[in-house]
Amino acid sequence: MQKIFSSIYNFFDRIFNGIDLAVRKFILRPFSWFLEKMDPLSYKLEGTKLKKILQYSIYPIFMAATLPIGFKLIEHGYNSRTFIATIIMFMVMGFIWAPLERLIPFSRKWLGDKDTATDFMLFTGSKYWGDFINQPIRLATITLIVQEISPEIGYQIWPVNLHPYLQVFLLLSINDFFRYWYHRWMHENEFMWRWHAVHHSSERLYWFNGTRSHPIEGLVQSMLWAIPLAFVKAPVEIVFVTNLLGRVIGRFQHTNMDLKVGIFDYIFSTPKNHRYHHSKIAKIGHTNYGGDVIFWDLLFGTFYLPKGEEPSDEIGIEEMPFYPKNFLGLMMAPFTYGRMKKKAIELGYLPNEQEKSLKT
Ligand SMILES: [Zn+2]
Ligand SMILES: [Zn+2]
Repeated sequence: MQKIFSSIYNFFDRIFNGIDLAVRKFILRPFSWFLEKMDPLSYKLEGTKLKKILQYSIYPIFMAATLPIGFKLIEHGYNSRTFIATIIMFMVMGFIWAPLERLIPFSRKWLGDKDTATDFMLFTGSKYWGDFINQPIRLATITLIVQEISPEIGYQIWPVNLHPYLQVFLLLSINDFFRYWYHRWMHENEFMWRWHAVHHSSERLYWFNGTRSHPIEGLVQSMLWAIPLAFVKAPVEIVFVTNLLGRVIGRFQHTNMDLKVGIFDYIFSTPKNHRYHHSKIAKIGHTNYGGDVIFWDLLFGTFYLPKGEEPSDEIGIEEMPFYPKNFLGLMMAPFTYGRMKKKAIELGYLPNEQEKSLKT
């Protein structure tokens, strides 16, 4: 039985490694070539006033611009969430974020792109999984439970007279309240950590790897949030702009740009506070759970941002240096977790069997 399983595994592993190689060679290589050409300019920028201006202005300008752009897009009928629309949105973001990361990187070590093809495959796979599995489950859950209770409740509660920007901020905060507790649960419960560890297996942070996660993580999320969020009936344009703002926050949250965002570190999930969340030191990684906003962490006592200090660029899962790096390995990692944990204890990375959670 074991033999059959391992030959099936090896067969698929070879296929996925082939795709990885093809993505690297035909899609990513031209981009890498272009980005590397920016390095001399990046070194020239070191210590200049222009770099300072970029560091302080990029974040507030992008964040502020997202709101009017979002409302304009929906005014002109663009509210598509199809597969192609998502790909185009990410491509547009990549064309903006990737060159800026190359120009003012927080860590030059994080510019190496050997994991980008795997992230690309995880992103594509998750999008398919999300559209064909999570979405129908979410719709079924809502239809079966919420609509039966009272579909009108949410419409009556939502403050439609509030300024649209405030409505966006309100929806973002409500969404993130659920996301905060789900994220915290995934860190504090070892069974849940099995799935979420895939996101933390990244050894560098850059604009695209916020999308690195196991599809099961999204599936549970779909079922858990569907019911409470179905009662929050914000108008369709508010939902669209909130999602767009969430995408922009997500790109900044994982970006390798060396930004100075000041007060926003205490409002949103920013590159600086999220770098602590990815820390190799387990105790530090057990903080800053916010996905979009960070004030739930401030309220519930999990905020971490020491003054006068910069987060380290040593990130990942310290207890498991042998954690898989390729597509199939990452997909199977939650199932092989027990074996990996045993190995980590044998090799002395984990102190003993009593260790309740890898992140405590
Ligand atoms: Zn996490
Ligand atoms: Zn993250």
